[in-house]
Amino acid sequence: MSVPNSKRYSELVKLLNKYSYEYHALDKPTVTDAVYDGLMKELENFEGLHPDMIAKDSPSQRVGSSISKSFEKYQHKTTMISLLDCFSESEAKAWLERIAKINPKALKTNFWVDSKKDGLACALHYQDGQLLRAVTRGDGKTGEVVTANIRTIKTVPLSLNPEHPFFKGYTEVRGEIIMTKLDFDALNKKRDLSGLARFMNPRNLAAGTIRQLDPRKVAERPLRFHGYDLIRQDSTEIKTNEQAYKDMRRLGFYTDSEAHLELDFPAVLEYAHNFAKKRLQLPYNTDGLVIKINNRKLYDSLGSVGKNPRGAIAYKYPAEEATTVIKDIVISIGRTGAATPVAVFDPVIVAGTTVRHASLHNADEIERKDIRVGDTVVIYKAGDIIPQVQRVIKELRTDGAKRFFYDTELERQYPELEFERPDGEAVYRVKGASAQILLERGLQHFSSKGALDIDGMGQKNVEILVGNGLVKDFADIYILTEQQIKGLERFASLSASNLVRAIADKKNPSLNRFIFGLGIRHVGAQTAIDLANHYKKLDNLGTATYADLKQVDGVGEIVAESILAWFVDEDNQALLAKFRRLGVWPQDVLRTKSFLSGQSFVITGSLQNMSRDEVATKIRALGGVFQSSVAKGTDYLVIGENAGHSKVDKANKLGTKVINEQEFKKLIK
Ligand code: NAD
Repeated sequence: MSVPNSKRYSELVKLLNKYSYEYHALDKPTVTDAVYDGLMKELENFEGLHPDMIAKDSPSQRVGSSISKSFEKYQHKTTMISLLDCFSESEAKAWLERIAKINPKALKTNFWVDSKKDGLACALHYQDGQLLRAVTRGDGKTGEVVTANIRTIKTVPLSLNPEHPFFKGYTEVRGEIIMTKLDFDALNKKRDLSGLARFMNPRNLAAGTIRQLDPRKVAERPLRFHGYDLIRQDSTEIKTNEQAYKDMRRLGFYTDSEAHLELDFPAVLEYAHNFAKKRLQLPYNTDGLVIKINNRKLYDSLGSVGKNPRGAIAYKYPAEEATTVIKDIVISIGRTGAATPVAVFDPVIVAGTTVRHASLHNADEIERKDIRVGDTVVIYKAGDIIPQVQRVIKELRTDGAKRFFYDTELERQYPELEFERPDGEAVYRVKGASAQILLERGLQHFSSKGALDIDGMGQKNVEILVGNGLVKDFADIYILTEQQIKGLERFASLSASNLVRAIADKKNPSLNRFIFGLGIRHVGAQTAIDLANHYKKLDNLGTATYADLKQVDGVGEIVAESILAWFVDEDNQALLAKFRRLGVWPQDVLRTKSFLSGQSFVITGSLQNMSRDEVATKIRALGGVFQSSVAKGTDYLVIGENAGHSKVDKANKLGTKVINEQEFKKLIK
């Protein structure tokens, strides 16, 4: 997740405050919680790095939202808290490490875990066992008195169990007002029958209902109260959260059966892992777990940061939506020659997987969604479906956002190709290219000398293999059998078996040859070497971001775009998966530092067994630099046969080491 600059920070403050108002005060959110949480994380990143620049009205500094004028206000005796979110095991562990620095006892303590209910927080005040008032959380400090409405909820005891010692004196119970999924569905069915609009979700319905002015209307809605906190004037009366829950139950409250004690943190994480599935079966909506230090004294000793207590955390599950910023739109040329635009963005986790790019399908789609480079967008991914750019958050668009002009981009990214957009189609295609021609050309290149160097895969043979339907992609050559080939034109039994062997020999080529062989546009033999030396493994190259790629020597904007476009293409992804399944995979580059690392060479005269081009390739592959003439800083001059004197003289003058062919061979061995 990127860290915003200060201009974007103030835009985020404004926008999140608007969302928060719509959600808390109007009970009518305009974005999903995942979108809100994603932007909030970005805001918090900025605040973490610039604590001195935290805006007074930052949403991180407040709980909930403004309170309605229609209800009497009440100031809470102790603030009604909010919770810090975390979305993964590693974030949860980081939380524990942070609080252990403040109080090392946190490492040896136990934890109280409960489901995080998605409703409206409310505090119930009892004096000598009788319900005195009910107050919403409001902004955390001041809430709205909604006693008459709360009295209609059957799970709220109007008086406490007289046998319990907490009957006497002041007792406060905090909990969540919710509506079960079943009740919510039944209510919506009834509304369907009466021709009324459906309610959006149980959380907003519960919140909206409690803030109704007419208690009779509230009584018609099946709301429930699930307790999660108990407060007594004398805090020493309740030592642990475990005890608080026991007392709440004995006093007459409903608490969830999910609430339980975990003896250590690994057990908490295991429970959290299993709860990911279990939560979906619960009768009410929950977006995660609340994990609290069980011992209240220890909990209190940790204090709070902003609106969040340090001793508790909300563990949430990966949402199906996330927000990110589009860094580039690259065009990928597929198997059939279709040019598909793909959005490339800062990696984000959506539905539990890291997503770096999403297809934008075609020109019309970009226009319809008005997607521009630099836009903040919502990415959507559910289950196994392919990630989609759902929409642009227009409020966060900057003046620098760049529109995507298809024709211009095609020309810029693929200057050597011609495209056409057939009438009535939204897709641009390479002019005159069919899937077969593209495959034949690609396969010849894949097998060529500079790439995998497979004997017997010249133009004619490739055309025969493809033309007979035996090879439909590069990986298919590795499953060819002698039987299949030997009857074909130009093939006898011996040549068929030779070809099968020649192919099998090249199952694990060097990484640079493989990268070159893939035929990624603008990636020549030298760039392939640079990429292999930089990334060491094909997987690393496949997951590199745009910014990453541009760090590699010799990789500029166009090359980076082209590499991204290749790896984001679904056909290419499928091809790589097939290679992997067949055991066809390039070798990792093992040397951590290049062998000749940056040392420069000039060759004069001719070498015995190597052409100049071969020497140059070899030097580059080993991380050295091949130069055409001796200059200041040249490390070696290699003298072959019939070498002239001028270069040697210059080398001697500049302090360049002069070596002969044998010495050079020793050096590169
Ligand atoms: P929070 O995530 O900070 O959690 C604190 C709240 O969790 C408590 O006040 C309590 O009501 C509730 N809770 C539920 N079960 C609990 C339990 N077992 N123990 C303790 N507390 C429990 O909530 P928040 O401060 O109310 O608001 C943040 C949430 O609201 C975020 O999830 C955010 O996505 C959502 N939100 C959404 C929008 C939107 O536009 N969609 C806007 C603002 C906020």
